[in-house]
Amino acid sequence: MAGIYIHIPFCRKACHYCNFHFSTGLGQMERMLGCLERELVLRQEEMQGHGIQSIYLGGGTPSLLSSEMLESLLRCIHMHYHIEGNAECTLEANPDDLSAAKLKELAEAGVNRLSIGIQSLDDSALAWMNRSHNAAQALQCLKDASEAGFDNVSVDMIYGLPQLGLDAWREQLKRVAEMGVQHLSAYCLTVEDKTVLGTRVRKGLEADIDEEAAAEQFEYLVNDLIALGFEQYEVSNFARAQRYSLHNSSYWQEKRYIGIGPSSHSYSTGMRSWNIANNARYMASIERDELPCEREVLSRKDSYNECLMTGLRTKWGIDLKEIHRRFDLDFEQLHREKIRLLQDAGLAVLRGHRFRLTAAGFFRADGIASDFFILDP
Ligand code: SF4
Repeated sequence: MAGIYIHIPFCRKACHYCNFHFSTGLGQMERMLGCLERELVLRQEEMQGHGIQSIYLGGGTPSLLSSEMLESLLRCIHMHYHIEGNAECTLEANPDDLSAAKLKELAEAGVNRLSIGIQSLDDSALAWMNRSHNAAQALQCLKDASEAGFDNVSVDMIYGLPQLGLDAWREQLKRVAEMGVQHLSAYCLTVEDKTVLGTRVRKGLEADIDEEAAAEQFEYLVNDLIALGFEQYEVSNFARAQRYSLHNSSYWQEKRYIGIGPSSHSYSTGMRSWNIANNARYMASIERDELPCEREVLSRKDSYNECLMTGLRTKWGIDLKEIHRRFDLDFEQLHREKIRLLQDAGLAVLRGHRFRLTAAGFFRADGIASDFFILDP
């Protein structure tokens, strides 16, 4: 299984908490599109012999692409890569871009999964985040998406916001679930340095995240979503009827993928690379037919630790046979006592050759994984 990620590095306005790579200079979109297509052509050999099962247009705001731009991009991918018949094709979107007409065009272009950045259903919180939409637009676009025939819709929500009360959070989750979405990703607000929020917190104009309130919101998130028919298949990701994100699952399962566009990352067994996170320099380089990327061969220690960190955050956990094959290491024998303690505490399960965390263990997934890390080079 292999995937293609395309980064669309443009947004209408900058959300105050966001540290992704994007520009609000929409005038460069046409030129950028030409460069993305050029990079797809330049790198096609990397995927020779690999069927593509997922295409993911992320950003930034891919829903800013006109239908013509999107069609051109997808046509280019289909021309130069082998796309499997049942491939997932996800587009990240903001609610204010998703008119009924636009949704119809997206479906016609071949998008079969939407990931919609709703974040909150509270207008004052949306304004505080500097989002480009309001709650009514968010609910309307979910309704329109369903009417347009999309049966694989994911929404992003944010908790840990200063103005978010527990009851309001639970009510928002319920309303979103009632709209019939199949997938929900929920992230805790983080204060990143080079953002408006980071500056405000540093200057004392905003309070830092209330960790205790955020932890309580996460706990209710998990319990409420499970009660509403979702399965927590990754710490921050929930799906109904096994509508897992194929694309994200392939990241967590260390499948091969290429990332196209500025700031995109790529991975193939033991090797990681990433493109420059600067639109002007990215385009200038691609226009000279030079790939603007850096590469890193992962050490045994880094590969192993990464495998644990990502695997233990998912319901599939880690495959001890696979660990043995890849790292020549007997995990069970090495960590017998730690595994026993985690099982006794109800935080983990070892069944056959699969070791995974329970729902209770997910609350401490990162800490538990790091307890098993290799520390020496
Ligand atoms: S729309 Fe998304 S990528 Fe753009 S600034 Fe907001 S959070 Fe960041």
